[in-house]
Amino acid sequence: MLGFGEVLICAGVVVVLVLGGAVAFIAFRKANPPRPPAPPGQGPPVPAPTSRSVTFFLRFEGREDEQYVRDLAQRHGALRSATEAREAALDVVRAAPTATHVWAGPASEAPHGPGVARSGLPGGVVLGFQVHATTPMDTVADDQDLGAVVARLRQIAAWTDPQFAGAELRLAQASVDAQAPPLVAVRKDSRPGHQLCAYCGQAFLAHDTRCPNCGARASR
Ligand SMILES: [Zn+2]
Repeated sequence: MLGFGEVLICAGVVVVLVLGGAVAFIAFRKANPPRPPAPPGQGPPVPAPTSRSVTFFLRFEGREDEQYVRDLAQRHGALRSATEAREAALDVVRAAPTATHVWAGPASEAPHGPGVARSGLPGGVVLGFQVHATTPMDTVADDQDLGAVVARLRQIAAWTDPQFAGAELRLAQASVDAQAPPLVAVRKDSRPGHQLCAYCGQAFLAHDTRCPNCGARASR
């Protein structure tokens, strides 16, 4: 049996241990304060979703662009091989820098395929391009960034035969209530080979020295 004194000593040891632990914990919290929650809207950038099947919608307006895109869709009406899919992708890459509105994402989000796009804008033509890959690929994180959309198309145009599982290129029927994701306006300064006028906001070719809209000298 323990004597009263020994019980007292044991209790004292326990108290010292508990107090010491509490002091150590407080000191630790002071040295390493808990991380404050990230302010809304400033989280890490949302990564592009990956998918084996990706759909691109690109809208063009203006007589020359519309005719060019109609011819392009007709030329690539049936894609029967990886070679034909590559050639179609390359033609989309060439046309894309003048697109006004774009959507790019997993094909499952556009359930009616590349032939049905959602846009309530009057006029213009919408090109639908759907590619199927043998392995999952990244889509595009920010559809407003036309440079990023073109970069993705360029990658597809460089695929090897085994990477292609299929492709379809066609003009899309566009309507405001179509069951498809809405096209978004591209940021004009993200158009490959274009710069933005500092005065009137018009996008024009990067090698022009004056804005064709207002005549202001190019800033770069
Ligand atoms: Zn201007």
